[in-house]
Amino acid sequence: MLDSSKISGTTRVCGIIGFPVEHSFSPAMHNAAFKALELDYVYVPFPVAPAFLAEAVAAVRALSMAGANVTVPHKKNVIPCLDKLTPAASLIGAVNTIVRRGEELCGYNTDGAGFIRSLNEEGQFIPGGKNVLILGSGGAARAVAVELALAGADKILLANRTMERASELAGVITMNTSAKAQAVPWLKLSLEKAVESSDLVVNTTPMGMYPHVEGYPDIPYELLRDGQLVYDLVYNPTRTAFMEKASAKGAMVLNGLGMLLYQGALAFELWTGCNAPIEVMRRALQEAVRF
Ligand code: NAP
Repeated sequence: MLDSSKISGTTRVCGIIGFPVEHSFSPAMHNAAFKALELDYVYVPFPVAPAFLAEAVAAVRALSMAGANVTVPHKKNVIPCLDKLTPAASLIGAVNTIVRRGEELCGYNTDGAGFIRSLNEEGQFIPGGKNVLILGSGGAARAVAVELALAGADKILLANRTMERASELAGVITMNTSAKAQAVPWLKLSLEKAVESSDLVVNTTPMGMYPHVEGYPDIPYELLRDGQLVYDLVYNPTRTAFMEKASAKGAMVLNGLGMLLYQGALAFELWTGCNAPIEVMRRALQEAVRF
């Protein structure tokens, strides 16, 4: 439990703006990090109904907060409330981290960058020149696909139940980055080619997420092999049916806890200017996810 008796007149406030936010793991992760580095910061959950979003964001400035995370359903709608966006956040079209610099509110997207850092640190995977298959084309896929493209991935294939969404995202990437992005129909033959030609396969759909733990995306698992990395953005359960099926074919597998951890670490570094205590944050997350 956070020791609230330590909060004083100099304490800097960060938080998370979402609706709902009760189940967020971010307060546990950030408060553990502040405590470990003895930083005079506190991280608070703020349930903000959509009608109050603009007022809540204005409060980040008015209350001299260090910044805030932004989560569902506000990641897109927060953009008009901000003064500046990073080029990546602008391409992704969503913000998950606000940093206050004086009177200016700057919007970042650390979700995709957190994914890349997880790939580097936990999968020893460097995206430059690699071929990737992304399953799904929603908000998380957008962050992942844009950052993979900015990190130099060569070919990005997007398979989605709703083909138009995949085509739109492929167009954004091809027009704005050097990566070659293409939508592929969710059909046996096209998925076979895509799985065979990919170094990395990422599930960005919620299939397999608790409580529907028996679910998994329908892809030709028999074509997966040793040397490929298979990444599931889902982290509850920590070993999904998708990961089990890929691992059985020899692929290396990772769950989405690393992405969650590193998006938080990047936000922490933006707010405090200190290196994030990764292992402290990882332990806090693992404990929070277990309950
Ligand atoms: P979203 O914007 O609603 O997108 C969901 C995507 O999954 C869409 O492409 C959707 O296809 C597809 N999909 C949903 N149900 C499906 C089904 N039954 N069969 C086939 N496709 C299906 O959601 P999101 O924000 O991108 O989140 C997606 C997942 O990523 C969630 O499980 C979320 O918890 C996880 N996530 C993890 C992290 C992390 O840090 N690890 C961060 C963000 C999100 P259509 O376009 O056809 O609807």
